[in-house]
Order: sequence, then structure tokens, then C-alpha cells
Amino acid sequence: MAGVNDFAVRRRRMVQDQIAARGVRDQRLLTVMQEIPRHLFMEQALWRRAYEDHPLPIGGGQTISQPFIVALMTDALGLTGREKVLEIGTGSGYQTAILAKLADWVFSVERLPELSRKAQTVLEELKIFNVNLLVGDGTKGWPEEAPYDAIIVTAGAPVTPRPLVEQLTEGGRLVVPVGQRGEQSLLRLTRRGDKVLQEDLGGCRFVDLVGEYGW
Ligand code: SAH
Repeated sequence: MAGVNDFAVRRRRMVQDQIAARGVRDQRLLTVMQEIPRHLFMEQALWRRAYEDHPLPIGGGQTISQPFIVALMTDALGLTGREKVLEIGTGSGYQTAILAKLADWVFSVERLPELSRKAQTVLEELKIFNVNLLVGDGTKGWPEEAPYDAIIVTAGAPVTPRPLVEQLTEGGRLVVPVGQRGEQSLLRLTRRGDKVLQEDLGGCRFVDLVGEYGW
């Protein structure tokens, strides 16, 4: 069984070879990804593969995202530490933990109660308390807590869910994979007054966003 130090070494390699080497420069983000023990967000049988360059299963037919994708999406949100963030698709809670270290507060919605429960347990173990988890259909957002400075969707949508755009602050960013099942474009939408600026950050592959404004 690998010890704590082995995991730290694997994490350092992950950050260097998969993330920094591919152009992510935000030092706060790189430091946080160096610190968060990604393996704890999956079952023990997968720990030795936890720092590899791909997604891994977390139960319920869902996956923990590839480390580089987590970095790319987080980087695109441009967090400084003051933001209120909404995440759709808590899953393992790994992305949630990264966001919690880089923003002021994170609200995260997950469809599957079992995954949300497990994520809550790991986040508490890591003493990450600036997070509120909710079980429900995140395609409708979390209107009671809106607006958000940044919103991240970690499942693939057929179209951008309208309620999420409406729950952005002025200048707020929404990062969401949009496209067909099994192949999407990663979009960043920025709210500017009555307008919404849209950028395409490249191709990606996510599990389905299932819900009223999803599949
Ligand atoms: N960020 C997570 C990704 C998990 S995969 C991680 O890295 O672990 C995407 C997650 O989105 C799954 O857990 C899935 O159950 C969830 N999901 C799908 N549709 C959803 C919806 N409408 N609302 C909330 N969560 C949803």
C-alpha cells in the first residue's frame, strides 16, 4: 500500500506533467491541486490509479473528472478568493474541495443522494466547511442562494440551462460542457449587462446532465 508521501509525490507529478505542462499558470490553483488528496474521493481499490491522466468511476455510473479538466474548468472561472460559487454535479466532491479552497463559499447540487452523502463525509474529514451540498436537479440552479459570481457544471448539457445564466451576477462566469451525448464543447459564458459573452474553450467528454433543462 502506498504511503502518504507516495501520494504527495504522485500529486506533484500530476500537477507538473498533466496540468502546468499543458499551460495552466495560476499558482493558487496549482498549489491547491498539489495539496488536496484526490485519492480520498474514490474507493480504496482505485487509490493507486488516483493520480492518472483520466477520469475514474465513482459509482452510480458516474466519474470523477480527469485532473486536467478540473484544472482547466477551475482556471476558466478566474477565482480570487472572494466569490460565491455554484457547482452542478457534486459527484465525488473533489472539484468541490478545489473550489472551496479558491473561493469564499461553494454551493453544490447533486442528483444522486448516495454520491452527495459520500462527498459530504470526505469534505468534513478534510475540514472543508465553506460548502453547502444539496440533493436535487441542478439544471434549475439553486435560486434561493443566487446570484453567483461563478457557476460550474460538471456534466454535459444538450443546451446551456437558462436558469443558470439567470443566476449569474453582473460579470459572473458560467463554465458548462454543451453538445451531444459523449462529446461536448466546453463553453464559458460571461454576463455583461443584458448581453452574454460566449467563448469556446475546446472539446471535452462528460457524463449526461440529467434534468429539466438537461437530457
Ligand atoms: N465534479 C465531479 C463530477 C462528477 S460526474 C467529480 O469530479 O467527481 C457528474 C455528476 O453530475 C454526477 O455525479 C451526476 O450524478 C451529476 N448530475 C447529473 N445531472 C445532474 C443534475 N441535473 N443536477 C445535479 N447533478 C447532476
